[in-house]
Amino acid sequence: MKVCTSVSEFIKLRKAGSLGRIGFVPTMGALHIGHGSLIERSVKESDTTILSIYVNPTQFDNVDDLANYPDKNSADLELAESLNVDVVLMPTYEQLYPDHYRYSVDENKFSQQLCGAHRQGHFTGVLTVVMKLLNIVRPSSAYFGEKDQQQLRLIEGMVDSFFLDCQVIGCDTVRDDDGLALSSRNLNLTVEQRRKAPVFSKALTMLLNDDEVASSLSDDGFKVDYIQTIGNRRYGAVFLGQVRLIDNVELNGGLIKCGVNEVAQ
Ligand code: AMP
Repeated sequence: MKVCTSVSEFIKLRKAGSLGRIGFVPTMGALHIGHGSLIERSVKESDTTILSIYVNPTQFDNVDDLANYPDKNSADLELAESLNVDVVLMPTYEQLYPDHYRYSVDENKFSQQLCGAHRQGHFTGVLTVVMKLLNIVRPSSAYFGEKDQQQLRLIEGMVDSFFLDCQVIGCDTVRDDDGLALSSRNLNLTVEQRRKAPVFSKALTMLLNDDEVASSLSDDGFKVDYIQTIGNRRYGAVFLGQVRLIDNVELNGGLIKCGVNEVAQ
């Protein structure tokens, strides 16, 4: 496995032309089995799998959140190697943002909802860094998790809108046995918070409307950012202490209208 800390070195490698069909898995590190599932799929479907590890500051609207983002580089590299990643790209801010973020990619509709309504500039940061990485890596396929469903949909839209020659592949959410979606941020939960966290994932599937789910979570000690059903998918974001958890579930069996919200049947 090659570790590339330089964008120009990586581009030289890609231009040498021996990588074949490239599968790309962009991450912010602190890898877990959820990331692993994306990597495994890429390895199966591609000649070369490129993993990027980069904690992208432009998608954080809170300096403490950025400072506390988990970081475990050597364990990440071990996991990547064991999963047969070919190249790990670990660029620096200076390399990725030679423009100091003067240029950015905006979406002005869906990015304003859900997480976008609660994290100022978040999706502009996400779309901008993903655009940069896709242009550097030039993958045939790029793998993203359904766990961040809004992000996945926005990236699909960006790839279509800018005619990028890349297939965006959505991968199922990997959960712990108790139903909690795996997330790097789970590492920051205390033992007590980790014990309580699966209540959030379960609540999203409850046969209640969104407001009722939100108030049940508040009663259980979560600080609710939003619970919102769009189409047949219920999205949510909550805080346990300083740790923000997001999740979404497909509501099978259809929906009935119930006041301003919709409720699973
Ligand atoms: P992150 O490192 O959190 O930015 O995530 C990198 C990629 O892994 C994104 O496409 C995420 O949606 C995906 N991912 C994160 N957690 C999971 C999970 N539990 N199951 C599947 N994919 C995930």
